[in-house]
Amino acid sequence: MATARKPLRELKHLDHILVSEAAIRRRVAALADEINRAYRGKDLTVIAIVNGAIIFTADLLRQLRSPLRLDCVRASSYHAGTAATGKPVIVDNLKLDIAGQHVLLVDDILDTGNTLSAVHELLLAKKAASVRTCVLLDKKARRVVPFEAEYVGFEIPNEFVVGYGLDFNERYRNLPCIGVLKRRYYAGNL
Ligand code: 5GP
Ligand code: MG
Repeated sequence: MATARKPLRELKHLDHILVSEAAIRRRVAALADEINRAYRGKDLTVIAIVNGAIIFTADLLRQLRSPLRLDCVRASSYHAGTAATGKPVIVDNLKLDIAGQHVLLVDDILDTGNTLSAVHELLLAKKAASVRTCVLLDKKARRVVPFEAEYVGFEIPNEFVVGYGLDFNERYRNLPCIGVLKRRYYAGNL
């Protein structure tokens, strides 16, 4: 029997829902199909950028059909609120040797491009055979570094979003959809 889910207790920071849970589910399935076609017959190493990519990666991975291994890199560019602090801090604690491997790099959102371009370079320096990138969200208007992902869930406008892994002060990661933060919480920071 289906049980109606109660809304999160703390939704006061949210302005509106941008991408529904159902739309995410459909798009993740379509992305997985695309990735499965591209890597058919190949082994894959998935590298997720945590914490933000945790939920997206968990949902995507269960629909990938290649034999795969999973590892994580920790990166942070937002230390408080919504203000970026410039260069991202990348903690390279990969356990897997990725030399000669096909790598799929997964993140929640492609924003300025600083994080993904830095991690992408790091993986190439470790001699990955190939590196492709998959992000749930892409804020093209914010790009500072030229970087594009091969697989993009949704292009979104220049607004601060939360949910499905994305946080505001470490909150809202458990929201099953993508919501937009009220402008007064990030005014001046985007
Ligand atoms: P970039 O290095 O591309 O500027 O930023 C990448 C990281 O910044 C993302 O992985 C994410 O953690 C954070 N970020 C960028 N835009 C947003 C946003 O709208 N909401 C949240 N919660 N995080 C964001
Ligand atoms: Mg992130």
